[in-house]
Amino acid sequence: MPIAFPNSLHARDVEYLLHPVTNARRHEETGPIVIDRGEGIYVYDDEGKGYIEAMAGLWSVAVGFGETRIADAARRQMARLPYYHSFSHKSNEPAILLAERLVRMTPERLTRVFFTNSGSEANDTVVKMLWYVNNARGKPEKKVILSRQNAYHGITITSGSLTGLPTNHRDFDLPNIPVRHLTCPHFWRYGQPGETEEAFTDRLVAELESVIAEVGPENIAALIGEPLMGAGGVLPPPAGYWPRVQEVLRRNDILLVADEVINGFGRIGTTFACEYYGIDADVLVLSKQLTSSYAPLAAIVFSDEIYQGIADNSAKIGTFAHGFTASGHPVSCAVALENLDVIAEKRLIETAAEKGEVLQGVLARFRDHPLVGEVRGLGLIAAVELVANKETKAKFDPVGRVGAYLFNRGHEHGVIIRAIGDQIAFCPPLIITENEIAEMVARFGRALDDTA
Ligand code: PLP
Repeated sequence: MPIAFPNSLHARDVEYLLHPVTNARRHEETGPIVIDRGEGIYVYDDEGKGYIEAMAGLWSVAVGFGETRIADAARRQMARLPYYHSFSHKSNEPAILLAERLVRMTPERLTRVFFTNSGSEANDTVVKMLWYVNNARGKPEKKVILSRQNAYHGITITSGSLTGLPTNHRDFDLPNIPVRHLTCPHFWRYGQPGETEEAFTDRLVAELESVIAEVGPENIAALIGEPLMGAGGVLPPPAGYWPRVQEVLRRNDILLVADEVINGFGRIGTTFACEYYGIDADVLVLSKQLTSSYAPLAAIVFSDEIYQGIADNSAKIGTFAHGFTASGHPVSCAVALENLDVIAEKRLIETAAEKGEVLQGVLARFRDHPLVGEVRGLGLIAAVELVANKETKAKFDPVGRVGAYLFNRGHEHGVIIRAIGDQIAFCPPLIITENEIAEMVARFGRALDDTA
């Protein structure tokens, strides 16, 4: 969009802001889309154009935009206690109530909560917690974290190292954090010719066993994984994957960290994806739909065993010297409590599976489209992967050009999708209705027709 008025918001954005995850030079030419307000599944730009937010922002806004109950809860908490920290035995009511609620919602084995501001900080914190505990237990060599290619666990130095996406590593010179990335568990893309899904799972499990043997179980602290990978392209695992992986980890005394930052709170049709996939995690990482991202917050919910290790060591050395100015921020925690009430009262988790079937059903129609290689997903998260050749699954060259084109056509047709290279992701607010799903997919279809 040409930048006509030097004093416009658009011109001032280009003048002053560096945008995250954006091509900065291209942004100087295009300028921003300034989102001004939101209502339900729609957001509106500063010129009044409405868009269906098919990604709930960044996989976040379960309750939709403009939920005034949450704004009221934030206002009440701001007026009562706008901020306090949790260092040195201080606490606040919303943080206590939210921790209690999360412990009650999650599996019995998870008994404690630590709050951070973001998913990245949460995953950094998990790594530090496990290292701290293992040092205290006289196992200082037990440090390596296993992750997977195409995983997304955040963007800071440690969580960015857990992330298995090359673009997030390139030219950032991440230091030598001990992480090993295993094969991405996406059967359609990484299964070998003639290999069945079961044989693919067998191969991934054999790889896990051989990496553990090579690195030594005594050197490996944990495996971190999104039960269903999100930002890497919406990649459900192959049949039987998680119970098999978990069995290998247990046998080798390696903990399992389930990163449910996207999956949690109903996204795939159950409260937590661990429930769906039969994962008994030692640590659960939650964010995004925890507050519907109305305020920044992430929570690490973890086992008593980890807690006891931290508590013992903090007594021995004097403190658990880790935390953030805004850990357990009272406004963010009050927002989360109200958000969870809205989710419960509107039965958004109970209805997500049903609505998910509708979404997966309408998207399945694109399977025959000449540009579409795979349509995949579960519940209210899905992706349509575009390919240069349907038969060979060959990617476009360069990867992402067609996806970016479609993303922009989406804007013209009033739908905000996400292009992960040429994988087009959908993750609408959980409040979306069946009619709105049909409208969202129709707008996407028009954008795809413009692309073909
Ligand atoms: N973990 C997962 C699974 C995510 O999808 C994300 C963000 O998309 C993160 C961690 C990082 O969260 P944040 O962007 O809040 O740092």
